[in-house]
Amino acid sequence: MKKHSILYKFYMLYMLVIVSSLVLAVFLTNSSFKSGLISEKQTSMQKEGQLIARQYARDYFSGKVTDKQLSRYFSEIQSLINTQIWLCDLDGNIVITSENSKSFESQSIYKYYEDFNINRSFQSSGVFYGAFAEPMVTIGRSISLSGKRVGYIILHSSMSPLLEQQEKLNSTLFLGFGMLIIATLIPMIYLSRKFLIPIEDINLAARKYATGDFSSTIPITKNDEMGELAISLNFMATEISKLDEYRNNFIANISHDLRSPLTSIKGYLEAILDDTIPPELYQKYIKIVLAETQRLTKLTASLTSLNSMHQSGLILTRTDFDLLAILNNMRNTFEVQCLNRGITIEFATALTPCMVNADKIRIEQVIYNLLDNAIKFSYKNSTIKISITEVGKDKVLISVKDSGIGIAKEDQRHIWDRFYKADHSRGKDKSGHGIGLSITKDIIKAHQENIQLISTKGVGSEFLFSLPKSK
Ligand code: ADP
Repeated sequence: MKKHSILYKFYMLYMLVIVSSLVLAVFLTNSSFKSGLISEKQTSMQKEGQLIARQYARDYFSGKVTDKQLSRYFSEIQSLINTQIWLCDLDGNIVITSENSKSFESQSIYKYYEDFNINRSFQSSGVFYGAFAEPMVTIGRSISLSGKRVGYIILHSSMSPLLEQQEKLNSTLFLGFGMLIIATLIPMIYLSRKFLIPIEDINLAARKYATGDFSSTIPITKNDEMGELAISLNFMATEISKLDEYRNNFIANISHDLRSPLTSIKGYLEAILDDTIPPELYQKYIKIVLAETQRLTKLTASLTSLNSMHQSGLILTRTDFDLLAILNNMRNTFEVQCLNRGITIEFATALTPCMVNADKIRIEQVIYNLLDNAIKFSYKNSTIKISITEVGKDKVLISVKDSGIGIAKEDQRHIWDRFYKADHSRGKDKSGHGIGLSITKDIIKAHQENIQLISTKGVGSEFLFSLPKSK
């Protein structure tokens, strides 16, 4: 596992949570458990102290019991309840003790407990001011006889049984935590892997995408955010791979389209230079060379236009202008081309001026592209029909309809894509680059208008687009 991997961090966090909760649990339970046990012990020792004072110490102070007898009683009690007993006189001298405390006999309590007060009960826990080597629970209470203070009794009980209980509690706690770790670790490993393996898949796929390999798809195993991410990345990969395909097509098309006119220009010029072409035919071949240079100019112009539209997002300069005038001009532009192929361009509607509000130069470009295609894909001696129809108060619909080769249903969706040529059999030697309609659509979209195609293969195509009328 890598040091900075999410899995590593995840497990580290888990360990941190477990260890800190264990420390907290041990600390909290120990402190409350210990203080609970000590206070419970002190309460029971207070009762024992009271009992011893009543049963034995009073008899001693009233002279019914001798020192020796009392010492024996204390030792018996000590072995029974494991508690050392000190009996003090009114001056604080330890006069009689149980067996294990003999070393304290005849000493003053003040030696250990400086604040000792004969009239006050006390309780403590610890080594009793250094008197003992091990921790003790201690209580002390005064003894009265007929309402008069006569002495003081102190009981010390070892804390080791309490500490043993505490250790038992700790072992139970550790055991519980151990079981908790085992019980949670297995599902956690399972779940974390389930969550993180898709991330690894995504990471792997992203690395491949970065190297240009878009073939791998990320498996979509979940219906959650991870699944959505996988769907988005798969979508992104498809889009980028399409773009990649576009780019490859673009380079192939452009290089071919540049090469073919250049080859023919070079061929004709060489033929002129080495006299393969006689001077009387120069006119004819120079015209061909000119036509080829025009093709090149057109190609570079459409590329520049495509690029600028892509970069600037197409800024329109709207003016009011007469659509009919533009259509007439265009018809003139294509006159020679039409004549060559016996094609007629006809106005299907009455010849009345029609003012629209749009970017004149861009709309000229649209009409040019549509007419250019219509002529290119029309059969010889056919007719192209142009019409302008008013739609409601605000719009006009312009139609360019040819009776040409038409576009197959499956291609109709793609003709708006860049570098797409539906007529595959046309080869690459024809003048199209698959850019015209993409530019056309962008221009119409920038006007917030629509363009549509109605086409039947072998019958013809009709392109319809709307424009706003001038106010
Ligand atoms: P091109 O410069 O190749 O004509 P376009 O983007 O203008 O590029 O057109 C894309 C493709 O759409 C063309 O290659 C052609 O296959 C098809 N197409 C466009 N207009 C027509 C039409 N009027 N008739 C038949 N096919 C057409």
